[in-house]
Amino acid sequence: MHAEVISIGDELTSGQRLDTNTQWLSERLGELGIHTLYHSTVGDDLAANVRVFREAIDRSDIIVCTGGLGPTADDLTRQAIAETIEVDLVLDDSALAHIRALFARRKREMPERNTIQAMFPAGSLAIPNPHGTAPGIDLTCDRDGRTGSRLFALPGVPAEMREMWEQTVGPALQKMAGSARVIRHQRIKCFGVGESDLEQMLPDVIARGRQPSVGITVHKATITLRITAKAESEVACFESMEPTIATIRDCLGSLIFGEHDDELQHAVIDLLKSRSERLATIEWGSGGLLAEWLSDVDHESHVYRGGIVVRDAEALAATLRGTAHNHDGAGDVSAIHDMAGHVRNRFAADYGLALGAFPSSDTVDREAGELHFALATPANVLTKTVPFTGHPDILKERAVKQALNFLRITLLQQT
Ligand code: AMP
Ligand code: MG
Repeated sequence: MHAEVISIGDELTSGQRLDTNTQWLSERLGELGIHTLYHSTVGDDLAANVRVFREAIDRSDIIVCTGGLGPTADDLTRQAIAETIEVDLVLDDSALAHIRALFARRKREMPERNTIQAMFPAGSLAIPNPHGTAPGIDLTCDRDGRTGSRLFALPGVPAEMREMWEQTVGPALQKMAGSARVIRHQRIKCFGVGESDLEQMLPDVIARGRQPSVGITVHKATITLRITAKAESEVACFESMEPTIATIRDCLGSLIFGEHDDELQHAVIDLLKSRSERLATIEWGSGGLLAEWLSDVDHESHVYRGGIVVRDAEALAATLRGTAHNHDGAGDVSAIHDMAGHVRNRFAADYGLALGAFPSSDTVDREAGELHFALATPANVLTKTVPFTGHPDILKERAVKQALNFLRITLLQQT
């Protein structure tokens, strides 16, 4: 049994409004153990709506659609459903009474147009809409020789749609889905290799159709493994995931830095906290992003002491005046080395982390040739240089992630 979610409205197909209903509904369906196989979006056009409904009824056992139930001429969902299954729209007196009562409470006359909202395709049930004028539609559409396709039409207004789901549609589907089968996800976050290299390290886990299933997504160089289990209960879901998670942890080791919404900065701050050690940073080219990320996640402990943001070569030379090397402005490995040591001393920290994109530019945004890191520890200064290319939109974030990961791996190797 699988579902299709349809969203209807020119505001969606024209890009003026983001379709959040589909995401929300697909998550709710998933929680009931119902897999969503199709998402369809269609503008306010009767013929196009009929096509989409016809196809959905043929290919999906459950259909939830939102939008197009308003009283205006562009709202065509009820007409489209009636036309698709070739029935008439009939007036539902109690729905009309509800709409009239809502207008009376607002001390307004009900415009004649709103009568359409009390019309339903013959054979359907009304889904109550406690806070809005448009009731929803619950209809089982016949399919030759097969179980019918159950169609729920809800208003587009997210608050009304959600309330109606929670009160009526969700419980009805739970009954259909049988003994509460649930789907649960677990996310494991990794950094340090490319997506395909990581996949090769997990030969048996990614296979299609496997239970629990494991999917890989990558976002700005952070790789997320999403483990999905289906079972009778939440506890059974998490139990069935355990061996898979253990295998993943064995194969990937320190490439894994966290779970769920964790980012590298959380991992770094947690490591420092557990060791009661303090960190300071200095960055050239990343506009303070390293300092911002670390500050944002270190609310109470203040293991992150602070940082220096250098914008140009002159500022760097001024910052490092009096340190071991003579820095005339051109960034190089000795500069990054001294930056790390300098900030460690200046902030009385255990570690000084330096990041710089040299020598081609003073901002990471532009195409940079090499990325340099240095970490001043109580014992020595470690440096690392990596080639640096990629789309400008993600260069800065990737540079900062690489710096954080350099620190994280060094800390792990020291324990
Ligand atoms: P409708 O039921 O088509 O009259 O939609 C009413 C309003 O709900 C629209 O003007 C949108 O602002 C909003 N809306 C409709 N569909 C969606 C959707 N899929 N996601 C988020 N908001 C929506
Ligand atoms: Mg609309």
